[in-house]
Amino acid sequence: MDRTQQVPELYIAGRWVSAHDGERREIRCPADGSLVAEVDEAGPEDTRAAIAAAREAFDDGVWPASSALDRGALLHRVADLLVRDKAAIARAESLDTGKRMVESEYDVDDVVGVFRHYGNVAAQDAGRVVDTGRSDIVSRIVHEPIGVCGLITPWNYPLLQTSWKVAPALAAGNTFVLKPSELTPHTAIALMGLLEEAGLPAGVANLVIGAGPRAGALLSEDPRVDLVSFTGGVPTGKAIMTSAAGTVKKVALELGGKNPNIVFADAHLETALDFALTAVFLHSGQVCSAGARLVVEESIHDDFVDEVVRRAERIRIGGPFDEDAETGPLISEQHRAKVEDYVERGLTEGVKLRCGGGRPEGSRYDHGFYYLPTVLDGCDGSMSVVREESFGPVLTVETFRDEDEAVRVANDSDYGLAGAVWTQNAGRAERVAARLRMGTVWINDYHPYVPQAEWGGYKQSGIGRELGAAGLEEYRETKHIWHNVRPEPQRWFDGT
Ligand code: NAD
Repeated sequence: MDRTQQVPELYIAGRWVSAHDGERREIRCPADGSLVAEVDEAGPEDTRAAIAAAREAFDDGVWPASSALDRGALLHRVADLLVRDKAAIARAESLDTGKRMVESEYDVDDVVGVFRHYGNVAAQDAGRVVDTGRSDIVSRIVHEPIGVCGLITPWNYPLLQTSWKVAPALAAGNTFVLKPSELTPHTAIALMGLLEEAGLPAGVANLVIGAGPRAGALLSEDPRVDLVSFTGGVPTGKAIMTSAAGTVKKVALELGGKNPNIVFADAHLETALDFALTAVFLHSGQVCSAGARLVVEESIHDDFVDEVVRRAERIRIGGPFDEDAETGPLISEQHRAKVEDYVERGLTEGVKLRCGGGRPEGSRYDHGFYYLPTVLDGCDGSMSVVREESFGPVLTVETFRDEDEAVRVANDSDYGLAGAVWTQNAGRAERVAARLRMGTVWINDYHPYVPQAEWGGYKQSGIGRELGAAGLEEYRETKHIWHNVRPEPQRWFDGT
């Protein structure tokens, strides 16, 4: 069975159900506008039902009390099923997002890695014994699941971002309601099918598909939800944080980035050039950690940027199944309009358009949301094109003269998700990496991540971490159990 095409599509209390209000949404491929499928569109009633199911499965179900070893084994079974269904899942991801099939296949491999990682570590940390200095006391720290988790994910890496939440949430013994982006629901639907097949008890995993304010907002408002973990834009993150404050629930936020890619004159320039393009133009810039700010040493600026422009102009654009394509469309007409507006603003701010700045020509692009790789030179930190996230294939160029200025320019941002430094001087690389206010710093590389290492942002790029040990901690409560094995009256008050 192709689990990406489950009908009906909402998954609540272990059953596939239609939306309460009977609403449906068309999912269209951003590459050509073709209809991918119609899916159920959840509203508040569906989300309430999903929260109730997750609450019941947490309070009265077997999952939270199951052994961590059993939970780890289930995650490995899910990983095996993902491997089995890789082709269908990658295809579904490409149809929803427009991204190249090969990139979707990489994504599924990464998702498998995330499930295997949390399958391995689920039972590794059983807590610790605390030495109280008293022989009559057994004192220990135990980890417990946090409860019902609301998981809200974006459209750029739909299944991957979902796996960063679902795998640790399950490893820790939680139940959850997942609300994926309404634009890209199919791989979340597929994942629910695999969780069911792997033997996850009913009610532990629940899926609502629908628009953010209508289907998702309740997850941060409802007192029955203990944690909201959100990946998406800063404005939505702020709204979620504000509404979660009403019930003092834990909030984890993975937000945007405006990430500097710093190139010193002493870098291995051919490699730095190659990665300067991948950093920003991969997935047409729709990557939270995209190296959208090239911060290049003044002495090499002209030659370096000329070559970036030459190569950017040659990037081949096409649909997900176009063998020749190197990158694809933007997610929607609305998103492309946002990128266009952003470039327009840059031009009024005085940037120099070096290439791109428009839509590709040709009938094959007529019905997709394509935008040309764009390089804007002559930028500085006062400009909105440098400060704000375009989330499109747009590179801004700034320069620096020395190490201090490189650090100052790179850190001059409200964001702090990721960045890179290119130099063959190891001391300089370490000095700069230490001074960058970002959750991830690459030295002589761009974009790689592993599930063993934490991911997240400084400043307005977020709160908390995904992946790594901290990524599991987000989904756990910590309890101190104090056991007096020789209880005796204390006689603080003498009672007479
Ligand atoms: P978005 O904020 O518009 O939407 C993200 C999710 O939130 C969607 O599922 C949406 O339906 C939902 N949502 C919207 N309003 C809501 C509300 N009021 N209550 C609850 N849920 C609501 O973001 P997007 O456009 O889907 O994704 C792009 C953004 O995600 C970019 O800013 C990007 O940088 C960020 N992102 C960050 C990371 C990271 O790891 N830090 C990873 C991927 C994407």
